[in-house]
Order: sequence, then C-alpha cells, then structure tokens
Amino acid sequence: MHHTFYPPEPALPETLAITPRYHAFGFSSLNQPMGHFTIGSGSGKSILLMSGLHGDEYEGVILLNYVLREILRHTQPIEQVNKTDLLNLLSEWTIFFLPIANPDAFILNQRWNVNLVDLNRNFPASDWQPVPLNPRYPPGKAPASEKETQNIIELISNIKPLMVIDFHSYKESVLLPTFVPNMKDIITVERYIQEWSEQIGIPVGDEVMGYATPGAKQTWCVEQGYPEVTLEIKRGLGSNEIRTKYLHPTIKFIFNFINLYSKQDSEQDSEQDSKQDSKQDSEQDSERPQYLSANRIHDQAKTSTTPTYLP
Ligand SMILES: [Zn+2]
Repeated sequence: MHHTFYPPEPALPETLAITPRYHAFGFSSLNQPMGHFTIGSGSGKSILLMSGLHGDEYEGVILLNYVLREILRHTQPIEQVNKTDLLNLLSEWTIFFLPIANPDAFILNQRWNVNLVDLNRNFPASDWQPVPLNPRYPPGKAPASEKETQNIIELISNIKPLMVIDFHSYKESVLLPTFVPNMKDIITVERYIQEWSEQIGIPVGDEVMGYATPGAKQTWCVEQGYPEVTLEIKRGLGSNEIRTKYLHPTIKFIFNFINLYSKQDSEQDSEQDSKQDSKQDSEQDSERPQYLSANRIHDQAKTSTTPTYLP
C-alpha cells in the first residue's frame, strides 16, 4: 500500500508466478539478436514496452528490467491487481518487453547504431527527411534503411499493440504521449497519464521537446494507429533512484491501461459500463466489440493527417 519508501527487497520467490518467454525476432547490423521477452498468453491484446533505442540511454533499460522483474516476482501485490486477477488478465493479454532495441549501439555505448544512424529519426513517418536538422540526429540514407528499424517495424506491425511505452532519457524527465485519432477512452487514458506524471513528479510534455523530430518512431507509430507514450527519464540517474522514482507509477499506469481495455469487452462488467456501452456502436462482427481494435484504430489513423497530441 505504501510506496513512498522501499526497504531492501525480499529475494525472488523460488517459483515465479509467471514464466516469461524469450524470442529473437531479428538481427542487428552486427548480427546480434534482437529479442523480446513476453508474459501472458493472450493472442488478442498486447502492449509493448521497449527501451534502448538509443544505445547510451541505459536508464530506460534499467527501468524496463525492473518492470519485468516486478511483475514476475509479484512478492507484493501490484496495486491494481491481485495475483489471481493478474493471471486471468495474462490469459487475455501479452505484454512484450524489448529491453535493448538497438543492441549494437548499446554495446558501443553510443546513441547511433553501427552505421551512425539515429534510429529514432529513421522511421518511415510522413515527416521523414534526408537532411538532419542537427548533426546529432542523422536520419539514415532512406526511411527504414537500418536493419534494426526494419525489425522493430515488423515486430510492431505483427503484434499490433494497443499501447507502446518507450523508455528514453533526457536532461529533464518528461512524459510524451501521442494518441491516435478517435482512440477509445482517450479521456481516461489521459487521466492515467496525468496520474503517472504526478506520481513521478514530472510534467506531461508536448509531442516534441522543443525541437522537431522527423522520422521518429513515435510519429510512425501514431500514423500507423498505435498510441505511444515516451517516458524520458532524467539522464544520469542510478539504478536505485530509477527504481524508487519511476517503477511503481509506471506499473500502475500499465495495469490501469490493461484493466481499462479489459473491462470494456467483459460481459460481466456490463453494469459498470452501461453508460459507456450505450454510447458505443455495436459491432457484431468483432470478437472485441466494446473497444476500438488495433485494426480499427489503424484504419482511422490512415484517414487523418493530424494525430492528436496531448498539450
Ligand atoms: Zn532517446
């Protein structure tokens, strides 16, 4: 219940409540495997957590590993969900963890991949441009010219996440959400993001940090219909500070989101959701009638050229 102080952690239980799986979905320019862990067996709904798109931003890699570990160990209840509910949710959902999205850069301890391309300017978003706005952000010789970018695009296109959460680090900590047009429950998700930011004690920012970011993964994601929120962790924090400050608010957001998008297609919750239901069109052809499926979001995003950004 009280998450303001963290005593030394108990050891891992001998048996984990959940068994993660590992899958290499592609290879980097230097032929390192690009792999993700997954928990949950749901085929219908997924959420993607990723970090290390910039190889020198280790802070996000630390946080992602803490999030994965905290869910696996589950030695204290995650605030939003008890163990039984968690296992039920994970029969419906798959949570993807991509801890090192740019493995060559991580080994080289640099922002760019081995070809000195900033992957977060290499995505085939509509605003991609060949000339860097700043020498620090080389976009590559073409959109998605880099193997790592191609692999991440394939992964996201395959799993169609209902939310992408990407951990980076920056001089100041900030949350940068981008939503797809007409996203279901956008008001509630905005409120969850506000709570997340307040609990960490950081602002919710604009879609860019005062400068344009053509070819950014976040822009590509939202154009493809995948909402994304980037967490910029304050640069240079140590692992204990990252755990203390960011871990529980982040887990809370993840499960708030999962719970929200689970409730809506549960017949059992029809009483609670009756107000929402009455506003929604019934979709008899869908197995997931009560919320906007990733494909629907995808189609709607394509018809709009102006993704919605939080202020
Ligand atoms: Zn970054």
